[in-house]
Amino acid sequence: MNCVFCSIINRKTPAEIIYEDSLVISFLDIRPFNFGHTLVVPKHHSEDLLSVPEEYLSRLFLKVQDISGAVVRGLGAAGFNVLSNNGPAAGQTVFHCHIHIIPRFDTDPFKFKMNLKKYNDGEMRLTGDKIRLFLPPQEK
Ligand code: AMP
Ligand code: ZN
Repeated sequence: MNCVFCSIINRKTPAEIIYEDSLVISFLDIRPFNFGHTLVVPKHHSEDLLSVPEEYLSRLFLKVQDISGAVVRGLGAAGFNVLSNNGPAAGQTVFHCHIHIIPRFDTDPFKFKMNLKKYNDGEMRLTGDKIRLFLPPQEK
């Protein structure tokens, strides 16, 4: 398998590693939106967020929170975006699940909100129904 993130995990490809434990690794994105743009990556090769084994998930998101705080404080950012591209339609280019943390500054010339749509009458309920149909049973 030819996966650049597995290659970083296995120390075959160099990276600026920020954090590592038995389940998760985090390193700087090589082509950042802003300096400090960081990736948090489960150490299991899963193509996307939907296929990450459950035992990695809570650690992954705990570390997204910790590392986001460190990125903001370390870079003196005014805010941050957390995002994950899943599938080519969403812009995913590396098919090993990862979460982006992007430090943001008041002077940033870019926003991630564009071409927002509007629901017509009833469309919001119908859309909610489509999603609820596929949710696993609710936990207490
Ligand atoms: P995505 O487009 O959401 O799949 O994100 C993949 C990200 O991985 C991109 O932002 C790339 O800049 C980044 N990337 C690709 N190769 C490397 C690498 N060797 N080291 C660090 N980041 C990388
Ligand atoms: Zn991989």
